[in-house]
Amino acid sequence: MTAPQTAPDHAAWLRDDLMRGMPHFITTAWTPDQRLFDTEAIAEAWRRIGLRSVHILSKHETGPALYPARHRNDNLDRDFFGEQVEAYVKRDIRVSAYYCVGLDDWAGGMHPEWCVRDEHGQLADTTFWASPSWMCLSSPWRDFAIQELHEVAEYPISGFWLDILGLPVDPNLCFCDHCARAYSDYAGAANLINMRGSEEHWEFKMWSHKRFVEDARQVLRDHGRDPTVIFNGAGAPFFKRYAEPFDGSDSNSTECHNPVLMGAIGRLNRNSGNPFELLSCSEQSWVHTVLKPDTLVELEAFAAAAQGATYTVGFTVTPEGRFSPGNIDRMAAINAKLEEQRDLLRGATPIYDVGVVSSRDNREMREVIGNVWRWTDFMRQGHLLHNVLPGFHNLDAQRVVAIPAGITITPADRAALERYVRGGGNLIVEAPPRHEPSDGPYFLRELLGLTFQG
Ligand SMILES: [Zn+2]
Repeated sequence: MTAPQTAPDHAAWLRDDLMRGMPHFITTAWTPDQRLFDTEAIAEAWRRIGLRSVHILSKHETGPALYPARHRNDNLDRDFFGEQVEAYVKRDIRVSAYYCVGLDDWAGGMHPEWCVRDEHGQLADTTFWASPSWMCLSSPWRDFAIQELHEVAEYPISGFWLDILGLPVDPNLCFCDHCARAYSDYAGAANLINMRGSEEHWEFKMWSHKRFVEDARQVLRDHGRDPTVIFNGAGAPFFKRYAEPFDGSDSNSTECHNPVLMGAIGRLNRNSGNPFELLSCSEQSWVHTVLKPDTLVELEAFAAAAQGATYTVGFTVTPEGRFSPGNIDRMAAINAKLEEQRDLLRGATPIYDVGVVSSRDNREMREVIGNVWRWTDFMRQGHLLHNVLPGFHNLDAQRVVAIPAGITITPADRAALERYVRGGGNLIVEAPPRHEPSDGPYFLRELLGLTFQG
């Protein structure tokens, strides 16, 4: 381990769970009759699969809230969230409340002035999310969302799971009036537009989002709940559109919908010593009626658990208001197989031959992500025992360290590499290695035996 374990004791369950459920019940056109939603049948499905915790929707990006929200005018006539919490908790299944922070079509429609905007007042491009309403956390949306989290925390939940708590990586976002005022308060007399893309601008964004996480945790304390807060993307420095490099999540949490991500993020997260979950779906996507093949789901479950993660798996509620019976049976069988191997999956310590150095900075990863993933996929396909390192840490644990092109190497990193090589370590550096400032000699010239000839 390269970092002390930071998870508080109250969240030990985050580390223990091998599999966790995440159902999606969204008011799409193919769910024509919401009255069919069968809370008891779904609660029994969780029990049969053997899950001890689930993340369930309290408010999705499309709205409406799935509980009777006090300040919305589009509430449903049934408390889907509350019914589920009661039925699951009765069966000793922990419930974390999913709440979508970053997107809210209802609030964005009612209050377009609360949305993320560029310097010219234009809305951000959100086609990636299929939702037009990216809500700005400097705007009154922030207080509105915290107030709704208070409403959700009145139910006996075990924490929040916050989605799309994404600060804009793009230096052209956000320049709404609320951000302009908030930045002046934060930094004194400075003008936000003058600070575009600066380190101070970046720090302001991270401060704003980290503060939201801290306030959400305080909401749970105010209601006497376990103060466990998880946000999607925590510990994953690869999102190009938004980023969560700030601290505060009790568990790292990453959607891993392909084998490269599952392997790379699993290895990367394990280095932190924190609990972490790797997410994917038992169907083709979060909301889909076609099941993934049995072998693929089983492979995903074991790939996640073997890295020390919890496999958090999505379940689609069918138009009949239940889960697919076949899906329940096979997920019960897969979870039983995981539990049979619990001692191996939780008690073993991995060994590595090769360490691939990754960046921890989302802004840098926008440039080098392809290089990092190419190296990890090369290791994966070659069946090499490899780690994905969060920077230049714990180098001695591997016989070989590979540095993908473009990764920043500081003088302190160079010193660590020199110690590593002097101690018998082997280094692979992908060209072109960086130069000293002003196109000077190669930064690693002594380690690599390079002579700069102009
Ligand atoms: Zn803003």
